[in-house]
Amino acid sequence: MKATQTFISTLKEAPADSEIISHQLMTRAGMIRKLGAGIYNYMPIGLRIIRKVENIIREEMNKAGAIELLMPVVQPGELWEETGRLSKMGPELLRIKDRHQREFVLQPTSEEVITDIARGEIRSYKQLPINFYQIQTKFRDERRPRFGVMRGREFTMKDGYSFDKDVEGMKASYAKMFDAYHRIFTRLGLNYRAVAADNGAIGGSGSQEFHVIADTGEDAIAYCPSSDYAANLEAAEALSVLAVRSAPTQVMQKVATPEMTKCEEVATLLNQPLTDTVKTLVLAVDQFDEKTQQLLPGKIQIFAVLIRGDHELNEVKASKVPGMADFRMATEAEILEAFNATPGSLGPVGLKAGVTVVADRTVAMMSNFICGANETGYHFSGVNFGRDLPEPIVADVRNVIVGDVSPDGNGTLEICRGIEVGHVFMLGTRYSESMKANFLDEQGKAKPFVMGCYGIGVTRLLGAAIEQCHDDRGIIWPESIAPFQVVICPVSYDRSEIVKTTTDQIYADLMAAGIEVILDDRGERPGAMFADWELIGVPYRVVVGEKSLKEGLVEFQARSETQAKKILPEDVLKELS
Ligand code: ATP
Ligand code: MG
Ligand code: MG
Ligand code: MG
Repeated sequence: MKATQTFISTLKEAPADSEIISHQLMTRAGMIRKLGAGIYNYMPIGLRIIRKVENIIREEMNKAGAIELLMPVVQPGELWEETGRLSKMGPELLRIKDRHQREFVLQPTSEEVITDIARGEIRSYKQLPINFYQIQTKFRDERRPRFGVMRGREFTMKDGYSFDKDVEGMKASYAKMFDAYHRIFTRLGLNYRAVAADNGAIGGSGSQEFHVIADTGEDAIAYCPSSDYAANLEAAEALSVLAVRSAPTQVMQKVATPEMTKCEEVATLLNQPLTDTVKTLVLAVDQFDEKTQQLLPGKIQIFAVLIRGDHELNEVKASKVPGMADFRMATEAEILEAFNATPGSLGPVGLKAGVTVVADRTVAMMSNFICGANETGYHFSGVNFGRDLPEPIVADVRNVIVGDVSPDGNGTLEICRGIEVGHVFMLGTRYSESMKANFLDEQGKAKPFVMGCYGIGVTRLLGAAIEQCHDDRGIIWPESIAPFQVVICPVSYDRSEIVKTTTDQIYADLMAAGIEVILDDRGERPGAMFADWELIGVPYRVVVGEKSLKEGLVEFQARSETQAKKILPEDVLKELS
């Protein structure tokens, strides 16, 4: 392609609201233009990269047996009412009304619609397993859209959904997707990690995230450099890390199931009903639900605390749960007072972002749910603090985790930051049951589909790749997603016959070899031309100028290198392969 056949519009200055390098570079390189908060135009060069990312995802999804379809961006509210999400989901779900005052939503994901498709189309176990995916526009009314495409309100996601006849099947489908995700992120040329994201079930097997490692990432990850172990810090802290290190074996052997509420889970772990011994509980706000309430009758004093995350969002969440309206956020002082009032109390935990107050490490094992209990310390009645377990300590999360032995025993833990670019979930029958999406099993009995769901942030990936691959001159795209493989920059293309013929020959050869080449025929000064392509991040550059041509040579330079080398024009192709 010639540069005059596409649209290149670079800027010297980054936008004033851009906080991170990827946002700055994507804007300066003319890949995106902001239209509103969290809403962007994808400009021609940006769109090329998005298409590359999509195609890699598409190829690997297809190879893994998933089938592409497309579901509407605007979806009927009734469908979302069937699962309760229309009313229960917070303000991230954008609701709109049509001229008849009927409610619609802009899809943030598509579990309801895909489950509706399954219940309408799939009758028999013989049609299972099946896995559908789409690459489609999503809308989430994020409270703080920022970082350009990284946290947009409108963005592109690949979302996939598997349907199986039983849990075993679901696990196999999940494993297939997990492998496909590894292939996708490897092909995208990213330094990434699969991370346990689930703090519900021990081992975090129900949900995993894929994170691109970058200092600007919004999430903290505990990982073991000498093995595959990695967990979203919340999950690491809540379960595996601390549990493996310090919990008694009998606690570790009780495994919670994904269907359990946090209350049930902990009761199972402790092998006793919570209500027997617990007088005060401190819960993470987002763990509230109706079942939890039933389990915890009024005699227990409950405080809602923000363990980690978004204060406002959690308050909204809490207020949506029936019967939770009179719950309020407790202050740190109030909670401390409640715990200190009774001998033997444990906790509290996680009152400030990044700082955890732990009574002992076993308590921290459950820190995402129960931060403490009063009186006897219900899970270790008879324990003498200071003798059997350490005295309550105040510690920074980092100090609790860094240097600890990894749960897999293969080394010690470190902490890094990551950008969540993918997420795989075992959903079970949550959606199929509420939507009565059934199939007939071998015995002709109706059974709900056992589902999994799998997301990848397509547009976020562009930002994530840039956070990892850039220098002070601009972006350095991994070759697999670069907008072009190589740019030819002729000096005096229109004025020098030899430059023109040499350039055209190289261009024709590369085109014939199927290489994605762009010829900069805009007539820009060399300095401006080079600066543009370095900013845009094309992996290789060929400079054709009279000076070098006097020796019969052209200049060839990789974007990641500082020096050009002189080669014969006919060797350009060889350098690229
Ligand atoms: P986050 O924790 O960053 O808010 P999420 O957990 O809410 O993401 P999922 O529901 O797991 O997101 O969606 C699947 C993928 O979609 C995420 O892993 C992420 O890559 C992408 N994604 C989610 N929200 C956004 C957004 N606002 N802008 C761009 N991509 C997003
Ligand atoms: Mg989110
Ligand atoms: Mg997330
Ligand atoms: Mg997620």
